[in-house]
Amino acid sequence: MNLTGEQLGAITRAIDERYRRIMESVREHVARSRGDEVATIAGAVGDQADQALADLIRDSDNALVGRDVRELRELEGARARIAADEYGVCVDCGQDIGFQRLLAQPTATRCITCQSFYERTHAQPGEPSL
Ligand SMILES: [Zn+2]
Repeated sequence: MNLTGEQLGAITRAIDERYRRIMESVREHVARSRGDEVATIAGAVGDQADQALADLIRDSDNALVGRDVRELRELEGARARIAADEYGVCVDCGQDIGFQRLLAQPTATRCITCQSFYERTHAQPGEPSL
């Protein structure tokens, strides 16, 4: 990994910000379908709130929040890679992924070259492009 502490800090903030925004979006989805239980979440804080929400998501209509949940998992994966000092390395070729790419797409697991190759060979309709 060739990132400076400052760059890693910026990426960590980008991850946190995105995570928070998705959580908000999931909360709204859930609030629409399960209004009463959101009150429980609102009363909880920090990890406890995340856990309450996670339980709720598991019980609710997965199709509704499936995409958000997938992105939350990807963000958690990125955090885990940062914690394990394995972040920012392409899973295909092992080269460092550029800082600008990681900042724009903190969950990226491939360098641009491998990602475009992957998309050419694994292209699926409706799959968001990284
Ligand atoms: Zn690569």
